Amino acid sequence: LQTKLPKVGTTIFSVMSALAAETGAVNLGQGFPDFDCDPRLVDAVTEAMRAGHNQYPPMPGVPELRQAVADKVQVLYGRRYDPAGEITITAGATQAILTAILAVVRAGDEVIVLEPCYDSYVPNIELAGGVAVPVPLMPGSFRPDFDRIAAAITPRTRAILVNTPHNPSATIWQADDWLRLQEILAPTDVLLISDEVYEHMVYAPNRHSSAATFDGLAARAFIVSSFGKTYHVTGWKVGTVCAPAPLMTEFRKVHQFNVFTVNTPMQHGLARYMADPQPYLQLPAFYAAKRDLLRAGLEQTRFRLLPSEGSYFQCVDISGLAVPERDLPEDQFCLWLTREVGVAAIPLSAFYGNGFDQRVIRFCYAKRDETLHAALKRLARL
Ligand code: PMP
Ligand code: GLN
Repeated sequence: LQTKLPKVGTTIFSVMSALAAETGAVNLGQGFPDFDCDPRLVDAVTEAMRAGHNQYPPMPGVPELRQAVADKVQVLYGRRYDPAGEITITAGATQAILTAILAVVRAGDEVIVLEPCYDSYVPNIELAGGVAVPVPLMPGSFRPDFDRIAAAITPRTRAILVNTPHNPSATIWQADDWLRLQEILAPTDVLLISDEVYEHMVYAPNRHSSAATFDGLAARAFIVSSFGKTYHVTGWKVGTVCAPAPLMTEFRKVHQFNVFTVNTPMQHGLARYMADPQPYLQLPAFYAAKRDLLRAGLEQTRFRLLPSEGSYFQCVDISGLAVPERDLPEDQFCLWLTREVGVAAIPLSAFYGNGFDQRVIRFCYAKRDETLHAALKRLARL
């Protein structure tokens, strides 16, 4: 069989979660909460099912939900997207990103990705027949290197993928970063796919800066988010994409033949729940406390902490650990950590096409405090 994705195996998140389950390790690997969502959200969905919202919704999504998304984006980022033609509800951000790529990337087109990047991006580009052009974030700081981004643009460049808050590095883009990108893209036709799934997880004193805020970017951008992250329901797989009408028209051509539409009762429940902004307004304080708990514990170890400005991830450098296993490649170190220490983590090398190893691994702190304490107890000896 000639395979389409010869280099792709099973995603690292599934691999590490399976190993954690098998070995009884505390799972700080795959990013998902180990606590439940707000019962009011479950009630809203249950009521939607009981009210008979169980058949296909309109292809782009339940109108009330698109309306609620439009209103929120306008308040937070100052741009009005038309719910009729500029917002689509997707089966999570994963499907939104793949669909955006399939909708615009043609055979041979180049798409710039900033490495390390989420593991679906490059295979998505390849499925579209495109060529991923990796530009590294600056080693150490994970800041964008705009000179290298500008230098990577060619007449074949179709799009650039940006992710802020960033998985895995937990860094964020500030307005200045977007302005630099806007300046670089201004003379080009390059499209932007902005993955903002962690938009509500940015920690004081910072605030999330969305590509939607910048005219010159929004005009060429698909802006992607996910309810899974914001409302602790990663298993529901409901996301959003906002884009100007001409781009959204192309997006929906693919979306309708990809999933057609997304489960109805969840959309109704989410629309009702979104009327209250408190859940997402309270999210930064909620997660900052978890981040600080994990950081305070790790400070007692030889792990070197990197900043965690946004997302629910904390990266650490393993090179100063007192154990000989610190010299293993990151992926093998994570297997050892899971099996022998009892804590699962994700190697950063999994986010690089060439497996670049910089002695850094990622922990997820979207966990109950007891879970974080249990992990810290096991990590204490390192
Ligand atoms: N992009 C990034 C950066 C992510 O971390 C994730 C979730 N792990 C996704 C996209 C996918 O989100 P969803 O679960 O809504 O498909
Ligand atoms: N985005 C999550 C992470 O980075 C995992 C999502 C998945 O397993 N596909 O851990």
